[in-house]
Amino acid sequence: MKILVTGGTGYIGSHTCVQLIEQGWQPVILDSLVNSKASVLGRIEQITKHRPPFIVGDVRDASLIEKILAEHKIEAVIHFAGLKAVGESVAQPLRYYDNNVHGSVVLMQGMQKCGVKTLVFSSSATVYGNSSAPPWNEQVPTSPANPYGRSKLMVDQIMADLTLADPTCSMTSLRYFNPVGAHPSGQMGEDPQGIPNNLMPFLSQVAVGRRESLHIYGNDYDTPDGTGVRDYIHVSDLANGHIAALAYAHGCAGHHVFNLGSGHGHSVLDMLNAFGKACGRQLPHTLAPRRPGDLAAYWADPSHALSTLGWHAEKTIDDMCQDTWRWQSQNPNGYP
Ligand code: NAD
Ligand code: UDP
Repeated sequence: MKILVTGGTGYIGSHTCVQLIEQGWQPVILDSLVNSKASVLGRIEQITKHRPPFIVGDVRDASLIEKILAEHKIEAVIHFAGLKAVGESVAQPLRYYDNNVHGSVVLMQGMQKCGVKTLVFSSSATVYGNSSAPPWNEQVPTSPANPYGRSKLMVDQIMADLTLADPTCSMTSLRYFNPVGAHPSGQMGEDPQGIPNNLMPFLSQVAVGRRESLHIYGNDYDTPDGTGVRDYIHVSDLANGHIAALAYAHGCAGHHVFNLGSGHGHSVLDMLNAFGKACGRQLPHTLAPRRPGDLAAYWADPSHALSTLGWHAEKTIDDMCQDTWRWQSQNPNGYP
């Protein structure tokens, strides 16, 4: 079955393409390369012995979308393409709404025109508000705190509306918690441009000597060790979650929402220690003020994905740190 994977050269998309190929699906990648490099295709080929068709282009290009859907006889779409930096979304809201919301609308219009009914979308735990105690299930009230989160929620809502208007559509929103880790081969991983905002890519750049020291944003939270707690999920587990969702949703009409997380919370110090163990030395760190807008602690209730998709996250934070370290140490400057 042929699957259009938008954003397929990006971090999560590339890992999902590997797993799709290994499990007998045929991904066709569309990516503008605004935040990824074409050299990832060579890595996908090294790992799977297959090079998926790749089109450089933008999801907002309506005629290109229709052409790809028709020419490749696409049966379902996994939509990763989007911008994802929270701070940037606050500074450039129009760019984020245009790329993430308008881009998704153009994609869905193309699907409607070409009779493609199944869409799996990269949503995020950032759509949830902060009013509920963790773990968060899919019924936690939504109330995103920034344009990035609102762009994800808007697309979720558009997908729900579309399934009401056309009850034959199958639209699935996957709400990721904190994706980290890398392919166990060390060939593929996260390759952020500029200074990483997120904990794991920053930690791994400290480990490889590209950054001096990790700044721990606050140690006075109401958590067991005072540092922030999140639900880290290995990117390979996350990729498998997409395949489980696709297998379930294809032919199962309606709007489906699933949290994809491990169901466990880990603190900044837990991750620092696990990474130190993986790379064989204590990593330099300093205490810094809390980061504005950060929550103390949240993690997923992933039981809906388990009961409906038969999916659950299997990898530990040690796996996540070991795989990230293998990727980062073999590719200190990321992809060529
Ligand atoms: P990424 O930046 O590595 O991948 C996104 C890909 O989309 C990139 O390759 C980029 O070049 C491409 N892209 C962006 N805009 C495009 C457009 N208009 N047309 C075509 N291609 C375009 O990010 P990722 O971490 O792999 O995230 C994938 C998706 O998952 C994103 O939608 C992101 O918002 C969402 N998500 C990510 C996280 C996370 O922590 N990584 C968490 C929750 C949700
Ligand atoms: N964090 C940190 N130093 C960093 C980056 C992140 O202490 O350089 C903390 C952050 O305050 C949060 C956790 O690590 O408690 C995860 O942050 P990340 O940005 O990776 O994910 P998010 O907060 O978006 O869930």
